[in-house]
Amino acid sequence: MPAEPASAPLASPAATPVPPPSPSTAPAPPSATPASSPSAPPRASATERSRARWRRPAPPWVLMYHSVADPAEDPYRITVSPARLDRQLNWLRGRGLRGVSVGELLTARSAGRGGGLVGLTFDDGYADFLDNALPLLRRHECTATLFVLPGRLGGDNEWDPLGPRKPLLTAAGIQAAARAGVEIGSHGMRHLSLPDADENALRTEVSDSRAALAGITGRHPEGYCYAYGTVDQRAIEAVRGAGYRYACAIDPGPLTGRYALPRAHIGENDAGWRLHLKRRLHPLRRRPLRTEPPSSAGPASTPAARAAHTFPSAAPGTTGGRRG
Ligand SMILES: [Zn+2]
Repeated sequence: MPAEPASAPLASPAATPVPPPSPSTAPAPPSATPASSPSAPPRASATERSRARWRRPAPPWVLMYHSVADPAEDPYRITVSPARLDRQLNWLRGRGLRGVSVGELLTARSAGRGGGLVGLTFDDGYADFLDNALPLLRRHECTATLFVLPGRLGGDNEWDPLGPRKPLLTAAGIQAAARAGVEIGSHGMRHLSLPDADENALRTEVSDSRAALAGITGRHPEGYCYAYGTVDQRAIEAVRGAGYRYACAIDPGPLTGRYALPRAHIGENDAGWRLHLKRRLHPLRRRPLRTEPPSSAGPASTPAARAAHTFPSAAPGTTGGRRG
């Protein structure tokens, strides 16, 4: 049973550098006259369209952790030692970055204050979070989002057949994390892959887990995290329809958006130079993120696009992830 953490909440958001708002990225409306007309504005070239695409806001940098403990005998490489986490948080802070919950990160970005913030997520709700991660987050004045499984309170990670059994938080442990300022999100009831779930299982994982967490913490969670990182359009619509504000995936590809946020897996081998590379590569590997839903009708406001907050070119599909 993990020790009860001190009741002092994690550091409140500190002042962070405020970057200027991103320039408008709305594409110019198509010309109604042929491009060859002398009075018509020139059509955007492929190069210009590519540049416009890259000027869109990149998805926020969100790091994905799981267990914080001795990483020995971990075939899934989801365990980071406390010493390594300490160095990783120190690396972030040394570069003017501060780890925060995904909810805080999205709120800050919507207000143009996202510069200098990095999302920190811990999947599965391992009991070691209270003893091993929380003190380090507090020391480095960071917060985080903890995605838990209300259908496995006090259980273990039996969905990982090859890995060592790791105990999961009890309801009291989740309450302790929430009191300490950690955002509590849902990872589903029992860690099921949503694209493989029938309608009943989908509702249980998405909606019932939200109600169960509200019963534990006293507030409905804003965030959902897809088990295994697997997501498709149906799952996105279920999560949005259940009232969540955002959802985390791993590599959602064309589904990337507020309800399929990409995340970078962080492991024991991620020293500073690897974090540097992951940070630099993040905008290149992920599709851009529309920070706000479309506000007017049009090709970008189809029901599917509104549901996913994806781009008009996004097509339904299923993507797999490493763990999640
Ligand atoms: Zn998981």
